[in-house]
Amino acid sequence: MQTNFTLAQLADPDTAVSESILRKCVHCGFCTATCPTYVLLGDELDSPRGRIYLLKEMLEQGKPATAQTVRHIDRCLSCLACMTTCPSGVHYMHLVDHGRAHIERTYTRPLLDRALRALVALILPRPWLFRLSLVGAWLAKPAAAVMPRRLRAMLRLAPAALPRRSPVDQPRIFPAEGTRRLRVALLAGCAQTVLAPQINEATVRLLNRLGCDVAVAPGAGCCGSLVHHMGRTDESHDAAAANIKAWLALWDGRGPERVVINTSGCGLTVKNYGHMLRTDPRWSAPAARISAMARDVSELVEELGLPAGLARSGMPALTVAYHSACALQHGQKITATPKELLAAAGFRVADIPEPHLCCGSAGTYNLLEPEIAEQLRDRKVANIERVRPDVIAAGNIGCMTQIASGTRVPVLHTVELLDWATGGPKPPALTRVT
Ligand code: SF4
Ligand code: SF4
Repeated sequence: MQTNFTLAQLADPDTAVSESILRKCVHCGFCTATCPTYVLLGDELDSPRGRIYLLKEMLEQGKPATAQTVRHIDRCLSCLACMTTCPSGVHYMHLVDHGRAHIERTYTRPLLDRALRALVALILPRPWLFRLSLVGAWLAKPAAAVMPRRLRAMLRLAPAALPRRSPVDQPRIFPAEGTRRLRVALLAGCAQTVLAPQINEATVRLLNRLGCDVAVAPGAGCCGSLVHHMGRTDESHDAAAANIKAWLALWDGRGPERVVINTSGCGLTVKNYGHMLRTDPRWSAPAARISAMARDVSELVEELGLPAGLARSGMPALTVAYHSACALQHGQKITATPKELLAAAGFRVADIPEPHLCCGSAGTYNLLEPEIAEQLRDRKVANIERVRPDVIAAGNIGCMTQIASGTRVPVLHTVELLDWATGGPKPPALTRVT
């Protein structure tokens, strides 16, 4: 694609990156076939190619974003299916991230939209506030029918009961069983610690069993992805810097050998810290170091290897529908590993139709664009239920919450099943199944 940026514009490092991305696009349109919003809406401007044109125009003109551009960029899930499909290697993720930051800087949203986004950016990354807001959500549920559409969507996603606080999410080091093989920092996360603390508990048990010291670092918190995808660059960079500092201070300053993440969107963001902070003289080198040691939990378990002769006696042979979260399959290019681990642990893994399509969760998307999100969820659930699974597994709390809101089949994190298969407790969600 031909571009017309001025030399002054190209002096900005983000614009220079976007220009090189834009030049790779050859307008072939292959990406439209796998874009969830184009598949649903059939509008070229809701396809990757259409959005790339809109972003090019907006960034080249250097003017405030228009309402039309904002509408179509907001509808993008950042699922990155287009990056998997594109034969020309167009890095849509960095382009749309830049576009969103430009929108956030230059566009004044309607008041309600602004308020809602500010609320989401304030609450979700702070577990104590999120916990408090869920109590508020229960109180507000009876009045849901008269509330605006987006608030209704938020109330609908609030869980029926709040799990207890987990000791695993407090800063400390959980020692390896037997000989230590690796020092691992765990990103405890933010919303996940409130919604499903059992995921971190299973992760710690499994990694301890496989010979890892696992540390939850004091001072580490949200990875920054929630605000990053809303174009709030400064806040996301601050979150990244706080985590990097906290992790590198572990083990008396020796730092970890791996950073493990069990939420795929957060994992993608931590792997992107090096890019996010590349122009910051203080943080660029530490950020690149952290990104290089970041691993999804499935990658790390594959590296360590599951123990031979798993304790499967007496366990039922369950059929698992594995939902591949977008940030894992399209963002981190991790596709086979979780399924292979589940199969090695003795589960029957069923392939679901249209595995490339997003479930509609996409970070805060199901809160901000609930109508499209609901259509995608229903399509995903229908595809999953077609294979008649006993249980659904996914590597992302967002997908788990979204899918669980549309099905009665239990939804677990992959790591909960692997922990169970290697000697951990049976996940409570499976009581009904087994
Ligand atoms: S990230 Fe997903 S929704 Fe956005 S343009 Fe690409 S395929 Fe479409
Ligand atoms: S597939 Fe790649 S090159 Fe083709 S239009 Fe989409 S982004 Fe551009």
